[in-house]
Amino acid sequence: MEAKRLAASFIKDSSNIVAFTGAGVSTESGIPDFRSANGLYNMDAGYDYPPEVMLSRSFFIRHTDLFYDFYRKYLVVKGVIPNQCHLVLGELEKRGKLKGVITQNIDGLHQEGGCRNVLELHGSVYRNYCMKCRKFFGLDYIINSAETVPRCDKCGGIVKPDVVLYEEALDEEVLDRSVGLLTRADVLLVMGTSLTVYPAAGLVNYYRGRKLVLINRSKTSYDGRAAVVLREKAGETLGEILRMIDSGKV
Ligand code: NAD
Repeated sequence: MEAKRLAASFIKDSSNIVAFTGAGVSTESGIPDFRSANGLYNMDAGYDYPPEVMLSRSFFIRHTDLFYDFYRKYLVVKGVIPNQCHLVLGELEKRGKLKGVITQNIDGLHQEGGCRNVLELHGSVYRNYCMKCRKFFGLDYIINSAETVPRCDKCGGIVKPDVVLYEEALDEEVLDRSVGLLTRADVLLVMGTSLTVYPAAGLVNYYRGRKLVLINRSKTSYDGRAAVVLREKAGETLGEILRMIDSGKV
């Protein structure tokens, strides 16, 4: 069977689908990923340090102002809207077919696309907290801060985004829930991720089924394990797949 049709038939016949996503699912919404040709790692962002250094815990502690400069410019992208990938996943959840989304993204677009059960492995730009008194703040507090480094309005402590930086551990509960979803999944959709950032990428190994669908524009080291590999845009492709299902073509 043609690859896309096979992916569509997996989705049509299942009510236990799980999605595992990365930065590539948000490029169609205008947020740059890390490793594409026009991703953050390949552009001259205008700093003396590479992005992986600037997004590390030690850099945040030592150069908080530079971190925030970079973070505001490249990771807090305003005015973005969910694309077809986020919207189709929202629709599949509504139909009771998708059990959850495990994402490495921090942009909140899966929730905006209608998904309720979203496990954010790397946190979210929408949550921020004071490192001293733990008071929580929304994204507007970071955007509207008059200072480069936002300070807590209660105690004056430094406010840090609730995102997992390099050198930081992932949340145990989010990891456990992700493992639970993956071990039980019938169909796994892996989309828009280079599968190179660990431990997140290693979670895919918990999937035990034979219906792994990988939609990614470039090759990954997991391609050999997938029943279907589509080297295409995740949003366009998922939109097409849903239309195939709804028009009775599969
Ligand atoms: P990555 O940049 O390493 O890989 C992205 C992959 O997506 C690439 O292999 C690329 O070929 C593919 N891709 C790009 N556009 C695509 C599209 N339209 N359809 C299908 N595939 C597409 O990203 P990653 O694997 O998520 O890992 C890097 C880290 O990036 C993650 O930890 C994440 O936290 C962080 N990040 C998140 C955002 C975001 O929240 N939107 C943005 C940048 C980086």
